[in-house]
Amino acid sequence: MIPKNPVMRICISCRKTYDRKNLLKITKDHKQGILFHKGMGRSAYICQSKTCYSDSKIKKKLQKALKTDLEPEFIEIFEKEIKTYNDYPNKGI
Ligand SMILES: [Zn+2]
Repeated sequence: MIPKNPVMRICISCRKTYDRKNLLKITKDHKQGILFHKGMGRSAYICQSKTCYSDSKIKKKLQKALKTDLEPEFIEIFEKEIKTYNDYPNKGI
């Protein structure tokens, strides 16, 4: 099977380009607010490198990328989300 051309996106932290499938997608949905991996609207992507998603400046970068102020509730959800990354580290496949 020939894989389709992957959709490439830039990590907002390290500015490297990755296959979209390997990135954490955060979308500011028009109706539902901030969503992970779904939604329509302005999106930001973070790669699965620990230096990126646990970057102390990542929240500021996210706010800038999404052009919105992030609610404390969102930060909680975000931190839960990135914890699952620690449980399942990217083995570089
Ligand atoms: Zn990155």
